[in-house]
Amino acid sequence: MPTFPGNVPSRLPRVGTTIFTVMSRMAAEHGAINLSQGYPDFDAPQALFDLVAKHMRAGANQYAPMAGVPALREAIAEKVQDLYGGSYDVESEITVTAGATQAIFSAVAALVRPGDEAIVFEPVYDSYVPSIELNGGAAIRARLRFPGYRPDWDEVRSLVTPRTRMILINTPHNPSGAVWEASDMQALEALVRGTDIVIVADEVYEHILFDGRRHESVVRYPGLAERAFVVSSFGKTYHVTGWKLAYCLAPRELMTEFRKAHQFIVFCVNHPAQLALAEFMRDRDRYLGLAAFYQGKRDFFRAGLAGSRFELLACSGTYFQSVRYGAISDQRDTAFAERLTREVGVASIPVSVFYADGRDDRVLRLCFAKKEETLARACERLCRL
Ligand code: PMP
Ligand code: GLN
Repeated sequence: MPTFPGNVPSRLPRVGTTIFTVMSRMAAEHGAINLSQGYPDFDAPQALFDLVAKHMRAGANQYAPMAGVPALREAIAEKVQDLYGGSYDVESEITVTAGATQAIFSAVAALVRPGDEAIVFEPVYDSYVPSIELNGGAAIRARLRFPGYRPDWDEVRSLVTPRTRMILINTPHNPSGAVWEASDMQALEALVRGTDIVIVADEVYEHILFDGRRHESVVRYPGLAERAFVVSSFGKTYHVTGWKLAYCLAPRELMTEFRKAHQFIVFCVNHPAQLALAEFMRDRDRYLGLAAFYQGKRDFFRAGLAGSRFELLACSGTYFQSVRYGAISDQRDTAFAERLTREVGVASIPVSVFYADGRDDRVLRLCFAKKEETLARACERLCRL
């Protein structure tokens, strides 16, 4: 007979507390500079906060429409048309969500049945596999090839079975900072042609690509867009990760199913913030300027680490810089990240946690969405090692 507490039949027996919570907590405990969890240490423009206040005072304090406020969905539709040439119906093909995490969860919940398989790419963002498993699916892991973190399309093809319901992709890629190219999207398009595989495209870093690279949104590829949930996050784009606001695009038939789940997972999301973002994002420079803004920070950070014993891996997008520390230590990355937090005062993310088998290339992820003074202090500490 089951006895509580102590005998809870966990749905996620192998899952602990997320690494982002663990490392941010450790950073706080030790007073370390927190380059672990990915969020800016600077604020969004005051104008955005003024807009939220304006809408709160004007009374937008009750439930928003289930799919999101129309003005925001219109602004999203225009942006996506402008940037990627994709046409999404404001009424039936765009939904505003409580962060990308909820959008991804809802897409999986809407489509994945017990026994279905969903392919993910390791190192894999930590919410994907639990989302699949909570919905009764099995996560099938393809591997991005170290150190460039490139997909191996022969491997992916070999993992597809009649049970494959979904493929979850992420470009620009967290944690590696790698960016998929047109040839990758074409390979994926060829792979799913003639199947009923659904794509979930996590594009939360869609505006953060460096050195003139183009974001290969699935929206650009008709053979993908016709079967894809495309997810972006306002948290990343407007420096407000704490607002937990994002959106999902999908063709009408898919979005109908998505909303069946969404309406019972969260129903609707923050009303005044949606109205504020609808106005704020009309200024295209706000997102078009993001790549140059973060490229400046990437370059500043890389220059600051150039004199260290860390080996800098390529960083083509996102606000994460991966570094190898093999020249400093042969400790496991989890142990080394802990030591770095305690003894050096810089918190990072050990990349092995994003692999089911704990593969450890002795790589740490460092977030450079920080003020230059924060980055400079961190570099000074890291160069001492
Ligand atoms: N996907 C990726 C790749 C991310 O890096 C993040 C968070 N940084 C998310 C999803 C979750 O985004 P949100 O905070 O909007 O839920
Ligand atoms: N996505 C953020 C990161 O990669 C963290 C989000 C979270 O803490 N769940 O660091």
